[in-house]
Amino acid sequence: MTRPRILVVGAGFSGVECVRRLERKLAPDEADVTLVTPFSYQLYLPLLPQVASGVLTPQSIAVSLRRSSKYRTRIIPGGAIGVDLRAKVCVVRTITDHLVDEPYDYIVLAPGSVTRTFDIPGLTDHAFGMKTLAEAAYIRDHVISQLDLADASDDPAERASRLQFVVVGGGYAGTETAACLQRLTHAAVKRYPRLDPGLIKWHLIDIAPKLMPELGDKLGRSAQEVLRRRGIEISLGVSIAKAGPEEVTFTDGRVVPTRTLIWTAGVVASPLMATLGAETVKGRLAVTAEMNVPGHDGVFALGDSAAVPDLAKGDGAVCPPTAQHAQRQGRKVADNVIAALRGRPLEPYEHKDLGLVVDLGGKDAVSKPLGIELHGVPAQAVARGYHLGALRTNVAKTRVLTNWMLNAVAGDDFVRTGFQSRKPATLKDFEYTDAYLTPEQVRAHVGRTQPQRS
Ligand SMILES: Cc1cc2nc3c(=O)[nH]c(=O)nc-3n(C[C@H](O)[C@H](O)[C@H](O)COP(=O)(O)OP(=O)(O)OC[C@H]3O[C@@H](n4cnc5c(N)ncnc54)[C@H](O)[C@@H]3O)c2cc1C
Repeated sequence: MTRPRILVVGAGFSGVECVRRLERKLAPDEADVTLVTPFSYQLYLPLLPQVASGVLTPQSIAVSLRRSSKYRTRIIPGGAIGVDLRAKVCVVRTITDHLVDEPYDYIVLAPGSVTRTFDIPGLTDHAFGMKTLAEAAYIRDHVISQLDLADASDDPAERASRLQFVVVGGGYAGTETAACLQRLTHAAVKRYPRLDPGLIKWHLIDIAPKLMPELGDKLGRSAQEVLRRRGIEISLGVSIAKAGPEEVTFTDGRVVPTRTLIWTAGVVASPLMATLGAETVKGRLAVTAEMNVPGHDGVFALGDSAAVPDLAKGDGAVCPPTAQHAQRQGRKVADNVIAALRGRPLEPYEHKDLGLVVDLGGKDAVSKPLGIELHGVPAQAVARGYHLGALRTNVAKTRVLTNWMLNAVAGDDFVRTGFQSRKPATLKDFEYTDAYLTPEQVRAHVGRTQPQRS
């Protein structure tokens, strides 16, 4: 007899948590577990801005999927580009660009989200995102190369555009990115005696009237004060009207000469969800509180890519796209897959938000654990303690801790790696958003390759 096949798509916070729990709770002969993932690591996204700023090495937040011999899941290196719910087949594009059909009995969809963009002229050609390890490493190289090129140039206009930086998005990702990268340029410019530090300018803009509204007024203001003290110009109620290679135009009419536009204005569910032809809520796949897709037994979705009802909040709210929820949903969905496999009832997901930590670099932070408002060193201690606790493996915790200590003692050497330096880096190149099939293409493909099933 063949064993039931469980297919997990995505090795992020929710996918990895689900796979590890399935490995722990299922007997090896009870089901075959397969994981589809383009990378061989789980990315600890909350520390991505610290990779961009060089406080952490990229490797330290890339947690290996093969650390232990107990990890028995079969891993397909590639990305899912379509799912045919009727035929129960997931189409995967491997990292060598081969299309592979992966049949399943149970599927857990956890591909996370991609950077949300809008129809703003030039945006997708000129903006960088902060969602992948490659983007963080690229941005670091790019920012240091702006200092190198400005230093070498005698043209004041070129210097001005290379030394201004724009971050769009006043959520925690954008705020941490602006804060961490400003620290990078502030420290680096001391090694460029020809450069006037006064020319370096960071802008943080958001269309919303407040930074990080989820922190509440007091902490939001406290974060804002820290950033303003460091010289970051914060513009609220403002977005981008137009982006070009050497300047961006704000919606309030200002034209800022810059070659660095970092776009962190929100996320949207992975384009994989649209290939299913199932109901979505603002792009996220509609699921029940048990994370099951209605009308499709054995199909589960969670994390940033699914609209999981937030039972703790009620009133029809859905869980916000945070690691905190994704990780816990991963555990619950594994239990529900096992329950479905064993013919037991599924259980709903419920979790009360534990709060937020925002690391602004150095001794600066704001955090709100369990509703307690903290700033400065206590907030930083909570933030760093939280991250160390949340990193999955002891070796990852040790790498991050060692990097923090080394950076505090020895600082940064501001070295460029030259990674992809001659290639334009667009959002779609890093986030593979153009790789997906349409629902019709999925059905046609599966109809050709799996004729007996369709
Ligand atoms: C800069 C930044 C800072 C953040 N800080 C915090 C924070 O402080 N606290 C917090 O709670 N949350 C934070 N978040 C949000 C948090 O990281 C996400 O909510 C969380 O990662 C969502 O988990 P997930 O499992 O849904 O997706 P992810 O963790 O993003 O995992 C998705 C995985 O799926 C893979 N994948 C994508 N497409 C496919 C495909 N087609 N096929 C196969 N695999 C695929 C991806 O490579 C990835 O490994 C931050 C996010 C960012 C970007």
